[in-house]
This record gives sequence, C-alpha cells and structure tokens, in this order.
Amino acid sequence: MSGRTKQWLADRPALVALAALLAPALVSVAGFGVAALLPDVQVAARSLPHISLVPLGLPGADQAALPTPPPADVVPAGRTEIRVPIMEYHYIRVNPVARDRLGFNLSVTPADFAAQMDWLDASGFHPIDLNDLRAYYQTNLPLPSRPVVLTFDDGYADFYTAAFPVLQAHGFKAVAYIVPGFLGRPSYMNVDQVQLIDQSGIEVGAHTVHHVDLVKASPAGRKLEIEGSRSALEQMVGHAVLDFCYPSGMYDAAVIAATQQAGFQSATTEIPGTRHAWASRMTWSRVRVNGGEKLAQFAGSLDQPEPTTTASLPPPA
Ligand SMILES: [Zn+2]
Repeated sequence: MSGRTKQWLADRPALVALAALLAPALVSVAGFGVAALLPDVQVAARSLPHISLVPLGLPGADQAALPTPPPADVVPAGRTEIRVPIMEYHYIRVNPVARDRLGFNLSVTPADFAAQMDWLDASGFHPIDLNDLRAYYQTNLPLPSRPVVLTFDDGYADFYTAAFPVLQAHGFKAVAYIVPGFLGRPSYMNVDQVQLIDQSGIEVGAHTVHHVDLVKASPAGRKLEIEGSRSALEQMVGHAVLDFCYPSGMYDAAVIAATQQAGFQSATTEIPGTRHAWASRMTWSRVRVNGGEKLAQFAGSLDQPEPTTTASLPPPA
C-alpha cells in the first residue's frame, strides 16, 4: 500500500476500525484486504445493528460522544465509464539540446514537475495506479476522489533520479512503462533501480523489449516483443506485470489481439482523453504533459473531476 493510500485510510480511522471489526462477518471476502471491505461496510453494519461502531483502541474510545468521522469522498464502484486522467510523461529533465524541439516537448523540467505534483496534492487529487483502475471495474472497488494515474514512458534514468523522489515525498503512486532491452544503457534505469521502484510502490508496466513499432513488426516479431517484455519484467520484479503501453502509441487490431494474448489486461495509447471504460481497456487514452507547459495548462488538461459520493458511516449506536 502506498503512503498516499495509507494517508487516505488514516484520514478515516473509524472506517478502517469498522472494517477490522466486521472482518469476521465478511469471511467470504477474506483475503482481499481492508480496502476490499470498505464497500461492504455499510451493508454489513446494517445487518449487524448491535455492533458498536466506536473505533477500538483509539483515544477516547470509551467516551460516549465522539466527533463524527469525516465522510469518505469516493468515486463509487459500478460506473461504466469514469473520468480518470492518465498523465503521460517521458523525461523529467532540462532538455540538453536547446534546438531539439521533440526532446523539448518530451522533457518536463524537474521544477515544473515538482510544481505539478505540489498542485495535484494541494488540489485534492489522489494518484492511483493501473492495478487500482482495473480493480475498480474487475472487483467493484471504489476509487478515492479526484483519481489520476501518473505514467512515465521508456524507463529513463531521470525517472529514478528526478521523478521518483518527488513522488515518494508526496506518497504518490505512479506507473513506469519499462523497455527491458534498454535497461542499463546510458540515460536508462538499470535492473536494480527497476526492482527498487517496484518495491517502493511504483507499478512497473511493459513497453516491448526494444521499443519497436508494433504495427510495422512481423507477427512473430510482434509476439516476441510483447510477450518478451512481460516475461523479462516479471522475472525482474517477481510478480505479474499486467499493464502495457504501445510504443509511440502505434497499434492496430492485430497488435491489440497480440497484447491480449500475451496476458496484458490494459494498454495505453497516445490518443488524448480522460474517460475510461473496462470495454476500452486495451486502448485507454492519455493526457500528454508537454515540456514548457504552464501550470494553468496542466491543471486545465486534467478535465472536470469525476463526481463523487459521500460514504458516511451510520451514527454511533
Ligand atoms: Zn515510449
């Protein structure tokens, strides 16, 4: 669990305590963790009215009047399509070649990046990863308010040196799409760094073995590049790698089919957009963050927030 998620739960001690209290009554969902219990808390509480809702082990737990816990502001489970901007970053650096316009567009400076993360934090955004977004659809888990996914393509070394410390300082989750064939080259992360970010709560996604144009690749080459990136990364991190990103956003029906056959459960493109449904999971759109854009442009690119509901707890008995 990321620091951010921990914080989100820590802000709702009564909800967490209640979930723990009701855990024996919810054995049918045992193994999914506290977060999985949250949507069931109210239903379970209604069927067990005699259970005290006073949090256990907290200061003042034996007092009759407790302050009302702050309501949980969530994107409720069950919506077919929700607005969750998936931000697309490449380099976090000062572009080294001033005349290189492409490099400039792909490079968000460390100062701009820090300002963007500060703004997300101050504006109540909750960075989630693609495990969370898939779980929203697959296992009916709610999402925190103002969900956003921060993705970083290609596995550059500056993700590790410039982006990762800022994300950690905020307790933000993120997704790094790694090109395993490039690891250890100059300006790319190495295997140790990928393992370390994975262990620190950054989701590792795949981006082919050699960053090839999958539309132009032969069927055999396509299969090797897609499946090979999954198996190489899974060996590296020691668990499933389920999210893919098409290099340069290039895909067609055959590429989508090969990506699904390789076992990936989502894939992102470079098509602009913020609305995502489970049905469109192999072509999820993204919001590109361009080098040099002003904070106001960045803020405007996130779209209107997905409406939330307040999951209030019933008053103490
Ligand atoms: Zn790429």
